[in-house]
Amino acid sequence: MPDTATDYRRLFDLTGRKAIVTGGSRGIGKALAEALAAHGADVAIVVRSTLNRAEEVANAIKAEGRDSFALQADVSDEAEVERMTQAVMDRFGRIDILINNAGIVLPASAEECSLDQWRQTMAVNLDGVFLVSKHVGRRMIAQKSGSIINIGSMSGRIVNWPFRHAAYNVSKAGVHMLTKALATEWAEHNVRVNAIAPGYIRTELTDEVLREHPDVVANYWEKGAVQNRIGTVEELAGSVVYLASNAGSFTTGEVITIDGGLTLR
Ligand code: NDP
Repeated sequence: MPDTATDYRRLFDLTGRKAIVTGGSRGIGKALAEALAAHGADVAIVVRSTLNRAEEVANAIKAEGRDSFALQADVSDEAEVERMTQAVMDRFGRIDILINNAGIVLPASAEECSLDQWRQTMAVNLDGVFLVSKHVGRRMIAQKSGSIINIGSMSGRIVNWPFRHAAYNVSKAGVHMLTKALATEWAEHNVRVNAIAPGYIRTELTDEVLREHPDVVANYWEKGAVQNRIGTVEELAGSVVYLASNAGSFTTGEVITIDGGLTLR
């Protein structure tokens, strides 16, 4: 435990820690990868198709003096997840931090949602978190330490009407419960598992909605939050650094909602 002011300042230090961020080529994942690196971590960035953009993120991190590289893997494919995990072990030798951020939204009301859309949503958002956690978790259990942070959503807590995406709601609620189950199973191995449940955050994902439905954004997204606005990717970074670092050493199984108060009323 820290016993001096200097030690307290080091609580958030991630120097030498090795991290994986899935979906780190843009949006929330990119910001979280940059934030971990800014606190001293070396970061592997995993994407399904946007490898060039992930390499740009990795190169920018390297230019700041940390090690970083990009890998292609579909988080919903167990063979690819296994290969990706081994590639990170080969490069870094250990994995201290995992950010399960990759996710998709396929907007479709329940009566229109095809079984394929439903399964695709579950495959990436829920199976993906399970598979990457399973393979990275094995390494963390072996090394007797690790911190996993899942990016859930306020949509796993409430049905954010007027949007209709039951599959997304269910997948994110599943992520929250998986977080609690893994935290319970792996506590004895000194592996902590937590989640962040963001509200509306400005990314390419939400920019599309902003372009197509500005009225919905103004009336529901902004007015819905007691802070009366959408959030930025940077506003999620502090909570993730907290959970990844020694500052969060007594926090596990927690889902931290960061939504400008949207789920308050
Ligand atoms: P973006 O769509 O901007 O980015 C998604 C990232 O995930 C991309 O890097 C994408 O890379 C990657 N990805 C998608 N599918 C896969 C896959 N099968 N395997 C590997 N990587 C994949 O999303 P955001 O940054 O907005 O969101 C990030 C996370 O935060 C998601 O889980 C989302 O559900 C969650 N969230 C977002 C909110 C928001 O308001 N933006 C609110 C609440 C939660 P590629 O294209 O190469 O596959």
